[in-house]
Amino acid sequence: NAVIGIVGGGQLGRMSAVAAAKLGFRAHILTQDAEGPAAQVAHQVTLGAYDDHKALEAFARAVDVVTFEFENISADALDCLAQHCPVRPSGAILRISQDRLAEKTFLAEADIPLAPWMAVTDTVSLHAAAETLGYPFILKTTRNGYDGKGQVRVYEASQLEDAFASLAPHPLVAEGMVDFACEISVMVARGTDGTTRCFAPGLNYHREGILDLTLAPAPVQEETAQRAQTLATAIAEKLDLIGIMGVEMFIDRAGNLLVNEIAPRPHNSGHWTMDACPADQFDMHIRAVAGLPLPPALRHSDAVMKNLVGPDDMALWPDIIATPGHIPHLYGKTEAHVGRKMGHVNILFPYGSLPGALGVQDALGPLADKAGTQD
Ligand code: ATP
Ligand code: MG
Ligand code: MG
Repeated sequence: NAVIGIVGGGQLGRMSAVAAAKLGFRAHILTQDAEGPAAQVAHQVTLGAYDDHKALEAFARAVDVVTFEFENISADALDCLAQHCPVRPSGAILRISQDRLAEKTFLAEADIPLAPWMAVTDTVSLHAAAETLGYPFILKTTRNGYDGKGQVRVYEASQLEDAFASLAPHPLVAEGMVDFACEISVMVARGTDGTTRCFAPGLNYHREGILDLTLAPAPVQEETAQRAQTLATAIAEKLDLIGIMGVEMFIDRAGNLLVNEIAPRPHNSGHWTMDACPADQFDMHIRAVAGLPLPPALRHSDAVMKNLVGPDDMALWPDIIATPGHIPHLYGKTEAHVGRKMGHVNILFPYGSLPGALGVQDALGPLADKAGTQD
């Protein structure tokens, strides 16, 4: 049975490894954390840093195909892996998605609608961006940002220089602030035969910059949902994607869709598929990477996914595990630091009933107080 190599040892690697096992494959993880979420469930682990060419080579030689749950690996390391086995999705896609400037440039060239943006390399372009975008706007690092880290909102001219200096390395990306009605995301998979599959968009709520809740399907007009899926599919095709990808979008007050960012890997906002779909995002991903046919992205139930973040959410664990209908997923992390994603809970609703009379707040039970709204 074939060996799927997964770069990265976190929860996305863990759930990918489980999906691989269900399909009869073995998962081999490259990580520095021998006790991490993915290593705990893997068939084999190579311990090493992502810039350690010896480790990369040993890993790549021992697997049949390589995929990622972690995007911040150097171009150099990617080339090293690609010398030994297929890398899916490709290094070219990772190079785009790991650099916000490359990502915006690629999406703009593909005619994908985006919030207004500009590259900021120095004080001259900083002032030019403020002039063009107007206040408030957002400055973001090009690399390594996640959970809202690596970005600063600039409300007035007096904050400009400090905001610029507080983010490194330069260049940065400046983005106009979108007065969005809501945030949605679409998971799209593409197989080696070019087949694409798209799950229904989910509606995302964040708390302190971290994804808190996903409602699926997003309570948006059918036509909007269709457009979101068409956009995600177009991006997947343009990228020549093999695997799964999350596409985050804003819906503005006029109903326009604006793509925020892409993540060519399983995505937190797609975790609802694990219990609401016959084939979930991880199954789709592993099938795509292994060159197997992709089943339709069907959903048999509507769902709410609640992330379990940090000690506050984990304090509710005894209640969650005792609540009928709460479907728990824990990542095997021992320490619940503030802001750390420890697991998630899926709650299912009859197909087509969300949004409906069934109160989401009611269904959340012990989690209701902890569920945030948009911020
Ligand atoms: P992730 O954890 O999703 O990778 P990230 O750190 O890469 O997050 P973004 O997704 O770019 O950052 O932004 C985080 C959140 O900040 C968004 O989900 C959205 O709520 C808000 N945000 C980002 N860009 C804009 C914008 N141009 N206008 C309005 N809100 C924005
Ligand atoms: Mg991001
Ligand atoms: Mg994001």
